[in-house]
Amino acid sequence: MNIAIDGPAGAGKSTIAKRLAADLGFLYLDTGAMYRAVALAMLRKQIALDDEKSVSAALEQTEIDIRYENGAQKVYLDGKDVSAEIREHAVSKAASDVSALPCVRLRLVELQREIAAKTDSILDGRDIGTYVLPNADVKFFLTASVNERARRRYEELKSKGTACVLEDIRNDIEVRDYNDSHRAFAPLKQADDAVAVDTTAMSVDEVTAHMLNIINGKRV
Ligand code: C5P
Repeated sequence: MNIAIDGPAGAGKSTIAKRLAADLGFLYLDTGAMYRAVALAMLRKQIALDDEKSVSAALEQTEIDIRYENGAQKVYLDGKDVSAEIREHAVSKAASDVSALPCVRLRLVELQREIAAKTDSILDGRDIGTYVLPNADVKFFLTASVNERARRRYEELKSKGTACVLEDIRNDIEVRDYNDSHRAFAPLKQADDAVAVDTTAMSVDEVTAHMLNIINGKRV
């Protein structure tokens, strides 16, 4: 069984997907982490993120590997664990930039489909229900107001002791959402057969229970 969860930045996709995967005993694949790893590779190599030819050439020389350690997804770039570095602020915007390039998407989508084909899994991202797994058994589109998404990200960063400004986070989210939903190739979009869940006024427990109900309804 494959479950697709798409939606804009900060809607709670990864939090919910991890909970669902643990409850169902499914594998969880955070596809955003893969775009972040490509972005980090290009930033390190100082390659212009809109130069598709150079990005494509550099990608040929880059090894991106997804591993699971104690049940948690780790991302390896050229043999090194970069799971923490890819969460850095500069990488988020860079990920949105490189994700618009077809050469990047084609490479990562191939890997995502391979992983999903092997086992029961939950994939989260922007184009899972529309492009990566159009035949997914259940599709969700998670949203929340931009203010609420910015507030959640702000609280998360603050709790980790990272200095941040709410207004900047909100701006970053809006820019990323705009880029992600306006790119030509596999943009962020709700699939026609996806169930929309607005999490603005819902707790993590409520969202998880609601989605589990829908999934279990499809399993019988
Ligand atoms: O989900 P996360 O915020 O980690 O994703 C980082 C970026 O990767 C997104 O802003 C988006 O540009 C890109 N992405 C994508 N398609 C996916 C997952 C992420 O384009 N399936």
